[in-house]
Amino acid sequence: MRPEQGIRPEAETHAEQNEAAADSSDSLVTLEQVRAWILRYADRIDECAATLTELDAAIGDADHGANMLRGMQRVRQRLLETQSGDAAHEAPADIGSLLRTVAMTLISSVGGAAGPLYGAFFLRAARDPAGVNAGGMGNAGGTAEAAAPVAAVRTLTLAQLAQLFQAGVEGVEQRGKARPDEKTMLDALAPAAAALTQAANEQRPLAEALQLALAAAEAGMRHTIELEATKGRASYLGPRSIGHQDPGATSSYYLVESLVWAVAPHDAAHAA
Ligand code: ADP
Ligand code: MG
Repeated sequence: MRPEQGIRPEAETHAEQNEAAADSSDSLVTLEQVRAWILRYADRIDECAATLTELDAAIGDADHGANMLRGMQRVRQRLLETQSGDAAHEAPADIGSLLRTVAMTLISSVGGAAGPLYGAFFLRAARDPAGVNAGGMGNAGGTAEAAAPVAAVRTLTLAQLAQLFQAGVEGVEQRGKARPDEKTMLDALAPAAAALTQAANEQRPLAEALQLALAAAEAGMRHTIELEATKGRASYLGPRSIGHQDPGATSSYYLVESLVWAVAPHDAAHAA
């Protein structure tokens, strides 16, 4: 079943929150799809934790799988416990709140570098998920209050999704003091964000844009094999880090892959 089935009415109900939205709900990413994205990511991390740990064993300290597993299991627990029953009223009611929940859970549960870095991605993405007030907050402090979502949206256009990704990438860059080509998660995330932005500018359909983002994330992940690490633990190895795929770029590829699965499930692909 396609995850978006049964949630079109919601997308329509909240259409007024998305004045820039295109005419078909197929072109919008819904709150339910964002939720499905995150839950799918938790499942992918379950499946791939051993691979991530193996990659981290080669150029780090062999804990990236365990770190991501701990974080995403907590995230899944948080999202599922508010799905129904007594805690249902605490379920994130908009995309910003949901992403902020993900961020805070990762930051509080993951000890390694990846927790605060993915936390920064989601916190920044959550701050203004629809770009309604882009540039208006200007607070780089990264505290929970500073990151409170300023726009309670339940749907995103492709342009808004691209903005969300770009904001997330900037969050990681600031938190990690890193740029692409330093053999980090940014090497998968930044090309994916750029591909979404370009596709939005070219007014491509959402499903096509997601495929372009997935291809860009995969190419970026593979490119880390050739790069020398200049940030994080892998940088201690210097040139000896060359020849190994970066674990964080790999978990970031899964993040993009999970998004494709949740929003355009028939097109989702599996690379490792
Ligand atoms: P730790 O390095 O503390 O053991 P993890 O193993 O969970 O944490 O995560 C390692 C990954 O984090 C790396 O593969 C890399 O992608 C990413 N990373 C490390 N340092 C940075 C940084 N400064 N900026 C961006 N990403 C980073
Ligand atoms: Mg590690």
